[in-house]
Amino acid sequence: MSQVACIGCNLMIDVARADVTGRGYRCNACSMKASMAADGGRNDVTDHLTVDERKQRAASAGTEMVVGGLVAATGLLVFLTVSGLFGMIAACAGLGMTSHGYLTRREMTGERTS
Ligand SMILES: [Zn+2]
Repeated sequence: MSQVACIGCNLMIDVARADVTGRGYRCNACSMKASMAADGGRNDVTDHLTVDERKQRAASAGTEMVVGGLVAATGLLVFLTVSGLFGMIAACAGLGMTSHGYLTRREMTGERTS
């Protein structure tokens, strides 16, 4: 297999897997970065959703945040009173839910763009 250097990061890649540009070969990661830069760096993941769908997703993400907070608080309570292991698992799961809900909500309301 023939190897070529990416014009973006100088990574040696198989020519069959490289994107051909006007300036040379480019790896998939650099092509994705160039594509994002061409869009102004804006995250367009919600472009295929209607305004109502985004509102619904933002509402369900808000619910996920609240439930995640409750799971984390319960996990902390279990950690302190019953079982350190199960309490820690529940607390981490709850914090993960809260974080996921927060980021999704920001994305659906247009606050998060990258
Ligand atoms: Zn590259």
